[in-house]
Amino acid sequence: MTMLASRTHLAPRTAPIIRLENIARSFGAVHALRGITLSLVPGKALALVGESGCGKTTCARIIARTDRPTAGTLSFHDKDVTRLGTSAEEKAYRRAVQMVFQDPFASLNPVYSIGHHLIRPLLLHGHAKGRAEGREAVKRLLESVGLDAEITIDKFPHELSGGQRQRVNIARAIAVRPQVLLADEPTSMLDVSIRQGILDLLAGIKREHDLALLYITHDIATAAHVAEEIVVMFAGQMVEWGDAMAVITAARHPYTRLLLSAVPDPDRPFVPGESSAFLRQAEEIRRISRPASTEIEQAGPNHFVRIPGPPA
Ligand code: ATP
Repeated sequence: MTMLASRTHLAPRTAPIIRLENIARSFGAVHALRGITLSLVPGKALALVGESGCGKTTCARIIARTDRPTAGTLSFHDKDVTRLGTSAEEKAYRRAVQMVFQDPFASLNPVYSIGHHLIRPLLLHGHAKGRAEGREAVKRLLESVGLDAEITIDKFPHELSGGQRQRVNIARAIAVRPQVLLADEPTSMLDVSIRQGILDLLAGIKREHDLALLYITHDIATAAHVAEEIVVMFAGQMVEWGDAMAVITAARHPYTRLLLSAVPDPDRPFVPGESSAFLRQAEEIRRISRPASTEIEQAGPNHFVRIPGPPA
């Protein structure tokens, strides 16, 4: 079945917290995003997958509202928040939507202890009253992200490993009790051996707190491990999307197939773009995918593919 792009979307089974409708973002002549339509729903993870420069971070920044789209609508609980709201609305949004970044060290201030980093959001948002109660809440938070609270609470960021620092960042993000967590390549700067633990933690937190999780990665293998739904992005567009298992096991778009073929072992992350063969094939797909097609084919109940356009 073929249908217009505007009529297809990741069908939410629960009311979405965040909804992007036909989002576009251009930087001069660069179309970083075109026609992005997706939803983030509570208790579910959606993975944005694609090579460097395909627009993943721009998409996360638009959701975090650190950037504005050129066209399209961003909704929060069905309310259009594309433009600036009142200061109370802005505050509520910033609290509801938290980010975990790639570099776990850059996001922690070296002069403050771990306890200091975590008690501030707890006190600020009224989740603890006073320092004694705050300290106990910090300890619970640290334990909930798999850290030994007694050992960690008075340490400074440089005394922790990269994985432990990323756990602290995750604790800080959930301290304000958000509804949405945006995780942009949260393991790419960590040792391969500890990546799985961080991804499992994110998946566990998502379940426990009923969070909507956006997981950004270039690694389609971990995307399928973490997320219920996958959006494969290529050159600023969604090229294949839907249930993670459908996208992985019945991939239709040549770029999704290329990503899958580049996974040497499903348990080992890989970096598309590192091999020249990958780059050559991606370039060929770019050639056959241009001009951008608006035709979308439904490949399954929740599985959609953008038909590659005729050769340029
Ligand atoms: P990476 O994995 O390397 O972070 P990405 O998939 O997240 O890549 P984006 O960072 O979203 O990709 O970038 C998408 C495109 O938009 C790229 O061509 C990038 O050069 C361009 N771009 C992003 N931000 C800006 C900006 N502030 N000014 C100009 N161009 C930008």
